[in-house]
Amino acid sequence: MERTMIKKYESKIVKYEHMNNSVIKITLMLEEDLNFKAGQYITIVFTNPDGERISRMYSIASSTKDKRSLDLCIKLIENGSASNIIKNLKLGNDIFFVGPAGKFVLTEESKEKDIFFISSGTGITPFISMFHELIDTGYKNTLTFINGFRDENDILFTKEISSLRKNDINLKLLNILSRPLNQNIIYKGHVQDFLSTIILKRQLQNSHFYICGLKDMIDSVSLKLKELGVKDEQIFLEEYD
Ligand SMILES: Cc1cc2nc3c(=O)[nH]c(=O)nc-3n(C[C@H](O)[C@H](O)[C@H](O)COP(=O)(O)OP(=O)(O)OC[C@H]3O[C@@H](n4cnc5c(N)ncnc54)[C@H](O)[C@@H]3O)c2cc1C
Repeated sequence: MERTMIKKYESKIVKYEHMNNSVIKITLMLEEDLNFKAGQYITIVFTNPDGERISRMYSIASSTKDKRSLDLCIKLIENGSASNIIKNLKLGNDIFFVGPAGKFVLTEESKEKDIFFISSGTGITPFISMFHELIDTGYKNTLTFINGFRDENDILFTKEISSLRKNDINLKLLNILSRPLNQNIIYKGHVQDFLSTIILKRQLQNSHFYICGLKDMIDSVSLKLKELGVKDEQIFLEEYD
C-alpha cells in the first residue's frame, strides 16, 4: 500500500458552522499540500487555558483532491476537554495538527464489491471522504450508507450526500433514528437492529463492511454481522473512543 507521511501542519479556520445542536463543521486552510487517503484522520494539538497541551484525532470529511482545504465534523461533548476549546474557536484562529494517519481506508478489493458504510453520529465523517473517492474512481457496485442519529434534526451531511449522489453511482441511504420526532418512520431504533433486513442474503458473503463511531455501536454491529455469517476479513473498523 502506498504510504502517506505524518508531519506537522499549520492551518487557519476559514469556515465554522453548526451542523446540528452539538456538531460543528470546521474548514481548515493550509499553506502547503496535505496528501492523505480517504478515511484518514489528523491529530489537532490544542492548548487549554492553563497552558496544557491536549491532542485529539478527527477524521477528514473532504475529498483527497482538496489538498489545501480540510473539512472536519466535530461533536461537542459536554465538558469534553477539547470540546470546551473548540466551542470558543473563531474564524481566522490558527490550528496546529499532525497527520495524516490511520489505516481505515478503502482497499482495492473493496472497490470490486458492494460496500456498506455503517456509522453513528459523527462516525459518518470518514465515509464522506471515501464516498468522494468511490465516485472519482468510477465505482460500479452498490454502496449502502447506514447511519444512526438521535432524531431528524441530528442527521449529518444530507446536502453533501445528495449532491454527490447526482453522480452515476448506485447508492442506498438509510438513516436510523433512535428517538425520531415522527413516530411513523420505519427505521426507528439503532443501526444494528436493521442489518438483517437491509443487507441482502447474497451481500452477506461478498460485501465489505466499514464501521465507524463509538465502541459500543461498533461491538454491537460487528456481533450482529458475525451472527449473520459475515467473516472477520469482510469487516473494517474505526473506533472513536
Ligand atoms: C481515529 C479517531 C478519529 C476521530 N474522529 C472524530 C471525528 O471526526 N469527529 C468527532 O466528533 N470525534 C472524533 N473522534 C473523537 C475525538 O478524537 C475526541 O475523542 C472527542 O472529540 C472527545 O474529545 P473531548 O476532549 O472533547 O472529550 P474528552 O474530555 O476526551 O471526553 C471523552 C468522552 O467523549 C466521548 N466521545 C468521544 N468521541 C465522541 C463522539 N464522536 N460522539 C460522542 N461521544 C464521544 C467518549 O466516549 C468519552 O466519554 C475521533 C477519535 C479517533 C480515535
